[in-house]
Amino acid sequence: MLPDIRSQTRETLAAQFAAWGQPSYRLDQLLGWLYARRAASWDVMSNLPKALREELARTWSLHLPELVTKQGSRDTTQKFLWRLADGALIESVLIPANPALYGDDSDRHTLCISTQVGCAYGCRFCASGLDGWKRNLEISEIVGQILAVERWAASQPVEAAPVTPAADASATPAPAPAPKAPERIVNNIVVMGMGEPMANYDHLMPALRALNAAWGCGIGARKITISTSGVVPRIRDLARDPLQFRLAISLHGATDAVRGQIMPVNRKYPLAELTAACEEYVKLKGKMITLEYILIAGVNDGLDQVLPLADLAHRLHAKVNLIPYNKVEGLPWERPADDVCETFADQLDQHEVVVTLRREKGHDIDAACGQLRLKTEKQEATTA
Ligand code: SAH
Ligand code: SF4
Repeated sequence: MLPDIRSQTRETLAAQFAAWGQPSYRLDQLLGWLYARRAASWDVMSNLPKALREELARTWSLHLPELVTKQGSRDTTQKFLWRLADGALIESVLIPANPALYGDDSDRHTLCISTQVGCAYGCRFCASGLDGWKRNLEISEIVGQILAVERWAASQPVEAAPVTPAADASATPAPAPAPKAPERIVNNIVVMGMGEPMANYDHLMPALRALNAAWGCGIGARKITISTSGVVPRIRDLARDPLQFRLAISLHGATDAVRGQIMPVNRKYPLAELTAACEEYVKLKGKMITLEYILIAGVNDGLDQVLPLADLAHRLHAKVNLIPYNKVEGLPWERPADDVCETFADQLDQHEVVVTLRREKGHDIDAACGQLRLKTEKQEATTA
C-alpha cells in the first residue's frame, strides 16, 4: 500500500512538488485540502489540476480513520472508536471545555488522542497495555484523529432552537435548513489516549507540528499536552524542542516503592532520574509541568505519599492533578472513597501544592484509556 500523504512532512511534499515542476502555491492549496478542509478523497480537490491529482494518487494514499462507534452525547464526554486502514482499533475522547484542566476559559473542546495500538509499558492499572503492544501509529493516524473528529462535528446539525407556537396553529412553518456546527471544535489536545507517546516520538513530533502549524490545524503549542509514564531520554529531547508543547508526567507514586509496584517503567527510570529529566525540562523551557496522580484504593492513596509528593511538586514547580481511578474490568484495582480522595487533596493543599481533584468525566462510558477498544475487540472476537 502507498504511504499516506499526511505522514509526509511539508518539506518532503515541497521537494516532490518542485521535482514535478509545480509552483509553490499548488502546495499551499494541497495543504489547505489536507488539514483545513480535511479532505477524504483526491476528487474533492477541485482547484488542483486533474493531472496533478492523478499524480498525487499514484504516489500517496489518502485515508481518515473510520468511525466504528461513538459513545456519549453533545455537552458530555464523547468517545470515538476508530478503525484504521489495517483494521486496528484506536480511541479518541472529546471532552467539553473545562477551565480547571489543561486549557483556559476560551476552551471549546479538548481531544484526547492515541499514539499506539496497545502499549508495551504494562502499567498494572491500565487497560491499554492489557493485550500488549501491537504497533506505533503513523503520523497520518495521529493527525487523522483530530481531522476525523472535526469532520464528524461539521456534519452534525446544531440543536434546533425552541419553536414558539404559531398564532395560527394550522399554519405549517417552512422547513428551515439544518444549521451546521461551528467550523472547528477542537482547540486543545491532550496526548493521553492509548499508548506511550514518547515511545513513538518520531511520529509524534511531526504529527504535533502539523497540528500546530499555520498550514496545518493551527492549534497553539501551549494547547497541546503530552503525557508520559516517564521515558527519560525523550523528556530530555522534548526539553530541547523549539516548540512549547506542555508536559504531563504520569507519576502515580511519590516513592520508588509505591511507583515501582504499579509502573514497570520505574525500574528502568526510577524517580531520581525522572525528576532530574523533569528539572531539565522546566529549566530549559521555563514552563510548569503537571504531575498526574491516579488515586487507587490501598495502593497509593495513603497519607504517607503526601509529603514526598509535595516535595516533588515543589522541586519541579509542578501542579498536581489527582484523578480517582477509573475501574477496569478484569483488574482488581478500585477507586478510593470520595472522602479519601478529598483528604489526600486537602493535605497537599496544606503543604501549599497547587492541586486539582478531577471528577472523572465519562466514567460511565469506559472513558479511561483503552477500555472501549478492549470491549469492542472482545465483542468482535465472540461474534467472529
Ligand atoms: N502512556 C501515557 C499516556 C497515555 S495514559 C502515560 O502513561 O502518561 C494517560 C493517562 O491515563 C495516564 O496518566 C494514565 O496513568 C491514566 N490512566 C490509565 N488507566 C487509567 C484508569 N483506569 N483510570 C484513570 N486513569 C488512568
Ligand atoms: Fe501505557 Fe500509559 Fe497505560 Fe502505562 S498508563 S500502560 S504507559 S498507556
